[in-house]
Amino acid sequence: MKLLRVLPMAKQLLTESVNSGEIVVDATAGNGNDTQFLAGLVGELGHVYAFDIQQAALDSTAKRLGELNSRVSLILDSHENVDQYVNNEIGGAMFNLGYLPHGEDLSIVTKPDSTIDALHKLLNLLKVGGIVSIAVYDGHEGGADERDTLLNFVQSLHQADFQVIKYQQLNRINNPPFLIVIEKMRGLSQ
Ligand code: SAM
Repeated sequence: MKLLRVLPMAKQLLTESVNSGEIVVDATAGNGNDTQFLAGLVGELGHVYAFDIQQAALDSTAKRLGELNSRVSLILDSHENVDQYVNNEIGGAMFNLGYLPHGEDLSIVTKPDSTIDALHKLLNLLKVGGIVSIAVYDGHEGGADERDTLLNFVQSLHQADFQVIKYQQLNRINNPPFLIVIEKMRGLSQ
């Protein structure tokens, strides 16, 4: 077995935990790589809700999706409002934090408070045995703050409810992303 890098590792874990026909969420559609991957995973009977606050990101995602667009709802809204669009149990979710690669305004980045709000809501919707993956980039302005807020939040999750894993390549230069993976271990009392 070869060691996987951070983004392929996230996809591998989602591949093992999401079933065909399920509902999943891409919290940060960006250029649509993860949305396309998730649309493939859930199959014809499943559905992907993909969020972004930039129309350019949703346009780029729609272009990448092609025929898979029918399996995806592209939502121009902040992921913290996920509960206004998704009420059913979800099979998994992905975050890829930071700015839109090749975007016009690289100062538009994910923010600590809305990231935590979205994550909290998604963990409530997540099936038992489901996974939320979060690729964290901390090299840009505000990135370190978001990283620390996120780590504090996930470390506070009860170990009987969630298993939380950090996966990081330690010998790569230029602020590579690291991965946080959260697996739901049991149903939560609301
Ligand atoms: N997953 C994407 C892909 O596969 O191409 C890359 C995502 S990119 C690193 C981060 C995206 O998050 C940007 O497109 C940005 O506009 C978006 N974003 C920032 N704040 C957001 C928010 N509050 N809700 C939803 N998306 C947000």
